[in-house]
Amino acid sequence: MALKNKTVVISGASRGIGRAIAVELAGEGANISFNYLKNSREAADLEREITVLGCKVKSFQVDIKEYDAVKTWIDDTRELFGRLDIIINNAGIVRDKALALMEPLDWQEVISTNLEGTFNLTRAAIVALMKQKSGVVVNIASVSGIAGMPRQTNYAASKAGIIGFTKALAKEVAPYDIRVNAVAPGFIETDMIGSLKEDYKNQILKQIPLKRLGRPQEVARMVKFLVSDDAGYVTGQTFVIDGGLSII
Ligand code: NAP
Repeated sequence: MALKNKTVVISGASRGIGRAIAVELAGEGANISFNYLKNSREAADLEREITVLGCKVKSFQVDIKEYDAVKTWIDDTRELFGRLDIIINNAGIVRDKALALMEPLDWQEVISTNLEGTFNLTRAAIVALMKQKSGVVVNIASVSGIAGMPRQTNYAASKAGIIGFTKALAKEVAPYDIRVNAVAPGFIETDMIGSLKEDYKNQILKQIPLKRLGRPQEVARMVKFLVSDDAGYVTGQTFVIDGGLSII
């Protein structure tokens, strides 16, 4: 129970990787505050699952793009749970299109959810962590932000931005004993890649040395390590978890 009585805030945990992270960290005794955009039923399911594990949990229907709403979510969490310890920036979307066909809205939605969303949550929480002189931030990036993927200029730019944000913030808050790292998954079995055409998925599988997609729990276990004291000397780094896809 390494995270007993710690408060973890996770964006976008109703489904997929965020949900797996919430369950994994609650398994270590953490109390969980998470947001989501639309899926109230999945959010309520996750609340039940975490309650059974014996931890406190509260979901908030808050658009990560809206700074004021995110600030209120964080203020409410502090009031409810008494403290903040770990921030996981996970909420993200794709709007894949060739740049020649991409509309300004496709660009704006992805940048404001993935990159500005990461700013919004971290900005709303960072002063509390600085005052207590402890804390951990983990940002969910993507191999797309390192290697680039066609039809993902918007998404790749948002994720490369998150990696730069991670490095800059890690240097800025190290004097407060706050660590900041990123995880860069490859193709992980969630709804996000559910919309990919079978042909394209098979093409991708051929390029993955481990010959399978990743599981959300495999990303969650990497996050569990990064938030633990075992990673006490690790900051400003990006950890790829992609079955070897981006080996060069
Ligand atoms: P997912 O299954 O589509 O789940 C996305 C989560 O984000 C949901 O909980 C969703 O809430 C929430 N969300 C989306 N927009 C939001 C908004 N504006 N405000 C608040 N919450 C919002 O995605 P995933 O595959 O788990 O991806 C999680 C993270 O991993 C993302 O940052 C993604 O870019 C990254 N990633 C994923 C993969 C992959 O292959 N799956 C690879 C690399 C990186 P609702 O349920 O209410 O919609």
